Amino acid sequence: NIGKSQAQLFDKNNSTMTFKDVAGLDEAKVEIMEVVDFLKTPKKYTDLGGKIPKGVLLVGPPGTGKTLLAKAVAGEAKVPFFSLSGSDFVEMFVGAGASRAIGRASGKRISTGGNDERENTLNQLLTEMDGFAGNNGVIILAATNRADILDRALLRAGRFDRQIHVELPDLKGREEIFEVHIKGLKMDKTVNINFLAKQTPGFSGADIANVCNEAALICARKDKKIIDKQDFLDAIDRIIGGLEKRTKLITPEEKKSIAYHEAGHAVIGLK
Ligand code: ADP
Repeated sequence: NIGKSQAQLFDKNNSTMTFKDVAGLDEAKVEIMEVVDFLKTPKKYTDLGGKIPKGVLLVGPPGTGKTLLAKAVAGEAKVPFFSLSGSDFVEMFVGAGASRAIGRASGKRISTGGNDERENTLNQLLTEMDGFAGNNGVIILAATNRADILDRALLRAGRFDRQIHVELPDLKGREEIFEVHIKGLKMDKTVNINFLAKQTPGFSGADIANVCNEAALICARKDKKIIDKQDFLDAIDRIIGGLEKRTKLITPEEKKSIAYHEAGHAVIGLK
């Protein structure tokens, strides 16, 4: 039923993403290209008696480039690539309605109640995956930031039995991601990639993309023509502020300890 679903086809004709757009993640790229190689030359593996994996799960925090990586595969592999979100799956297999995450372990669901769309979707997905004969050239790539709560049945051999980990970028990774996202920005010489990467530990690729865009907006708001270092610093503050708002309430005790911590930064900064 894929033709009737919301699935979007990406192939060499319309996927403009390539691995060049995905900064860092070198190991993940190697692993994912291996999967592509399974697809293109299955014989190489099956002649040796090997079984081709059917599913690969990309695991890592939000905004680290899992979707980006999957889309780049379409551009690099030159194989047809269908993309679908979790909620589309529910509609495709079960009917319009629920758009909650699929694949959650039964004990840990939020809603209760008998005829659960989530459960039906999961079962259907498992059935479909089992339906693919071992080497018929279909591989399912999925992405999650909560591999810990997935139904074990999904991770069993013959389903998503391979996992590729996509982690938050380190200093070098952040430099590379900045490199990708400052392309096209009009900046002066005060902007230094290494400096920016040092200011943004814990930022995901998505956060960094945000910083770059926000810096341009801040610059425009000041009616300037060229983005400088201060615009980036303001953007970083803004993203951190934004991130803080999303987290839960802070107790007075936590606030006090954060205040000490931040005062520490201030002292070191002055020194
Ligand atoms: P995920 O699927 O892991 O939640 P996405 O792949 O959707 O994250 O990333 C969101 C956006 O963040 C991307 O469209 C891109 O602009 C930026 N981004 C994330 N990771 C990277 C990366 N490694 N290199 C370049 N850009 C990145």
